[in-house]
Amino acid sequence: PLLVDQIAAGEVVERPSSVVKELLENAVDAGATRIVIDAEEGGGALVRVSDDGGGIPADQLGLALSPHATSKLRDADGLAAIATLGFRGEALASIASVARVRVVSRPPGEELAAAIEQAGGPPGPVAPLAAPAGTTVEVRDLFFNVPARRRFLRAAPTEYGRIAATVQQSAMTHPRVGFRLTHNGRVTLELPAGQDPWERGVAILGRDLDDALLRLDRDEPGWKGASPMRVLALLGRPEIGRASSKFQHFSVNGRPVRDRQLVHALKEAYRGLMPADRQPVAAVHLTLDPAAVDVNVHPTKAEVRFRDAGAAHSLIRAACRERLLAEDL
Ligand code: ADP
Ligand code: MG
Repeated sequence: PLLVDQIAAGEVVERPSSVVKELLENAVDAGATRIVIDAEEGGGALVRVSDDGGGIPADQLGLALSPHATSKLRDADGLAAIATLGFRGEALASIASVARVRVVSRPPGEELAAAIEQAGGPPGPVAPLAAPAGTTVEVRDLFFNVPARRRFLRAAPTEYGRIAATVQQSAMTHPRVGFRLTHNGRVTLELPAGQDPWERGVAILGRDLDDALLRLDRDEPGWKGASPMRVLALLGRPEIGRASSKFQHFSVNGRPVRDRQLVHALKEAYRGLMPADRQPVAAVHLTLDPAAVDVNVHPTKAEVRFRDAGAAHSLIRAACRERLLAEDL
């Protein structure tokens, strides 16, 4: 592969879970209603994502694998108001520069699917075949041609754990999409299509916790310096707090994010209600004017930058705290 491709790949593809993240984003962008994710050996041997979305026309399969080819940035204003999850057009190319990739796709209107393979070099020929409508991207032997990076991968259970977390994050922000995850042939997560954010939240945080999860749905009209913000959340009662913050999910405008300010704002909402060494269980979804927040600070690190970070922090804290205090805790 070209050196430049491998450098770019390092930005996007750090480990199997980053492959999963990119492929899930593409499936969601393609309008999938159901996504199946199969992993083997922590994803290092295989990551396969199948969707029933709009597919890729045969004559564009080669293009989809080439760097900076995207079908999603249609005009100059696109960067400011990104509606799709992907937009850089580098994910598939980056993955294909460090793994053996096979893409099979059929737009629903076409009779035949087409397949293409690429393994570190240029893409192979496009071949027709029969397949269901939608797209399957298969990624085998991640970093087969970059031994230094391959060695950097952790043991399969650890890598698999990150994949599961990535799938959960995506599933949390796309409750209408059905998800199924398998590891080494065993089904580890199954979420039906057509759920609402509450049902999906309960399904992921734990059905046994249903009674302990408080619903919050609030529109904050015109908070300081910005347009309205909608806060939709499931907040675990303080007594189900955990030792770790990994039972917290955040999204901003439909993108899963992991952000210290948000974790902090949530923790502050529970101040005095749970022991300081406990962490809230929660799913918090924020919707606001895309111009008031940058969720694309870095392609892999899911940070957010609010135009007015202080205002966002206090609004989220106050909304969550008020909901908690409204309950007889
Ligand atoms: P980006 O998502 O930034 O556009 P990618 O490299 O992830 O870039 O994908 C390149 C292009 O391939 C996309 O713009 C899209 O047109 C097409 N594509 C990739 N995955 C899928 C999919 N699952 N379904 C339909 N089209 C896809
Ligand atoms: Mg993409």
